[in-house]
Amino acid sequence: MEPAIRISHLNHHYGAGNLRKQILFDISANLYPGEIVINTGPSGSGKTTMLTLVCGLRTVQDGSVRTLETELNGAAADRLVQVRRNIGFIFQGHNLLSTLTACQNVRMSLQLDRSISPAESRRRAVAMLGAVGLDRQVDLYPHQLSGGEKQRVAIARALVRHPRIVLADEPTAALDRASGRDVVELMRKLAKQQGCAVLLVTHDNRILDVADRILSLEDGRILSFAAGVSANAEHLLTAFAQMHRKGELKRHLQHLPDDQFLHEVSDATSEFEGVLQTMDVANAEATRTLLDDVLEVAADRIRHLLRAERTTLYLFDPVRRELRSKIAHHVGDAPLDIRLPLGLGIAGRVAESGESMNIANPQSHPSFNPEVDRRTGFRTQSILCLPIRDRAGVINGVAQVLNKQDQKSFSQADEHTLQEFTRPLGIILETCTRLFSTADRAAPVNRFPE
Ligand code: ADP
Ligand code: MG
Repeated sequence: MEPAIRISHLNHHYGAGNLRKQILFDISANLYPGEIVINTGPSGSGKTTMLTLVCGLRTVQDGSVRTLETELNGAAADRLVQVRRNIGFIFQGHNLLSTLTACQNVRMSLQLDRSISPAESRRRAVAMLGAVGLDRQVDLYPHQLSGGEKQRVAIARALVRHPRIVLADEPTAALDRASGRDVVELMRKLAKQQGCAVLLVTHDNRILDVADRILSLEDGRILSFAAGVSANAEHLLTAFAQMHRKGELKRHLQHLPDDQFLHEVSDATSEFEGVLQTMDVANAEATRTLLDDVLEVAADRIRHLLRAERTTLYLFDPVRRELRSKIAHHVGDAPLDIRLPLGLGIAGRVAESGESMNIANPQSHPSFNPEVDRRTGFRTQSILCLPIRDRAGVINGVAQVLNKQDQKSFSQADEHTLQEFTRPLGIILETCTRLFSTADRAAPVNRFPE
């Protein structure tokens, strides 16, 4: 699918001579039809500049911006006008004309199109105001409307012509929390219905979770996933959970070089620490799927790094005093649910003693439990097993890798590598534990496929 907006290697400067200052640095990003992308970042980071460049309100100096199949770099003024006709704008100040009613304000944007009769224009404007929940405010003037209502009129005005792109600059900045949310939810709903692409610029991190995707700008540069992790951990995590739903987080983590991966997982982990401090049940579900995803990618990464055949991560349940597999092997489509009482099996021993075990010939080891092999048809030939600890140093899980490829056993270096992963994993498992216990209290359901 052709993106509605394709930005490549965009640079932008303000000023001239000695005062010339670079504001945007090598920005590349795409925005697809039906997608809502939030461009976030601190004040002064270049968000508005980027927005005005992609809609042709500002001249592209360097790099390429293709908006609705038109290259804007070097485009003639009349081309820019044509492109803008397919774009709806929503700004921080609603920019309604105070001498016109809500309906007349919405009809303003239909006036460009001479094929629409006055009756048709009123009909469409009224229908659009109905869609934003303002049936009864159609003939009121801006001063008779609340802030949220005015912003909804602005949305109706932007969408009534069914634009292919909607650009919104800080649309919630003047609104309280509840009306801000209403406004973005509404934009989201209408954008999905109309299949238009939405680019929403905001530094309001209370609304990040409506996005399909988030672009973080800082000092004119797009940040990587981990660097973009900042500000309010809870909202960001909800937002990441959205990325997760689209498989984006996983794709992102999967394609990072090994050292950077560890870095990013550790970084994300410090965010999880933040979440632990501000835990809210409403976000538990979203966060849980996110954590599972991170664990799954981490397990796979460990397997790859250590050249092992399998990785299992166990979560320790201190009440039942047993280990329970979180990421494990599958039998057919069903994940295998492995439970080990503390002290039993290699992982059970590691959880009990807190000592790592590196075993070259497990089949003849007194603690080895052949039961899992029997259930899965796997043959364990070497095991490296390390305890995972929470921030207080209490064991909350076990990481286990099986079968070093092409060799008899795992090396000291392997042990060291696995050790590096256990700190972030410990915090993730700690978050899982809190989430499970909070969510279990709220809704007693069986969430483990047996
Ligand atoms: P944001 O929308 O993220 O707050 P802006 O894109 O408005 O950021 O501004 C980015 C930087 O560019 C700021 O340092 C701002 O002072 C500067 N800037 C914005 N517009 C102009 C302009 N017309 N002339 C010179 N500098 C500008
Ligand atoms: Mg701005």
